[in-house]
This record gives sequence, structure tokens and C-alpha cells, in this order.
Amino acid sequence: MSYPPLNCPVCRGLLRDFEIRLVGPFRCPTCGEQLQIPSRYYNGLSAASLLISSILSVTMGLRGVILCFVTVILWVPINILGLVVMRSIWPPEIKRYLPKDLRLFQR
Ligand SMILES: [Zn+2]
Repeated sequence: MSYPPLNCPVCRGLLRDFEIRLVGPFRCPTCGEQLQIPSRYYNGLSAASLLISSILSVTMGLRGVILCFVTVILWVPINILGLVVMRSIWPPEIKRYLPKDLRLFQR
């Protein structure tokens, strides 16, 4: 699977995947500008993964505490798989780091 390249919005320098953080700020290796991915990207993905894992658990006929337990266990691989899929079909939008967006995330 080949991923579309991600560039710094400030200097257009290439950002490699291991240099990008999904949560919180990170620095552009070319210009040193603090960058971030809007928190709604990861929050939205996490919510969608949780929904999928809970639907799967209900479909398996699970109820009560076991249902909650299996939902959480399934959520982890679905979330990781979701990240890989999202990275290729809907790459994150990289923006200049704004501290107010971080406060929103930590609430
Ligand atoms: Zn840059």
C-alpha cells in the first residue's frame, strides 16, 4: 500500500509518517515549525472504531459485562486498522500548531 505524501503547510517540506504525531504537536524536520493534526481526526476515528467494535460484539450475541469487555478488546485492532485505511483514503490535514486546539482535546 502506498501512501500519499504529507507536506508541511508552512515550508511544503516532506513529512515522513514516523515524524507525524496523531495527538499533540510535533515539529517539521525541515523548518522546525510546530504542527498538528486537528484532534477531530483521531477523535472521529476512535469513535467510529468504537461503534464498529460494539456492533461486532452485539452481532456475536454478547451481553452485559462480556459485551463491554469484548468491545474494548476489539476496539484496539479496529482502531489500528482504521488508522492504516484512513491514512491512504483520507490522509490527515496537517496544520500549524494552535494551543487552543490542544486545550479542547485535553478537556
Ligand atoms: Zn516545514
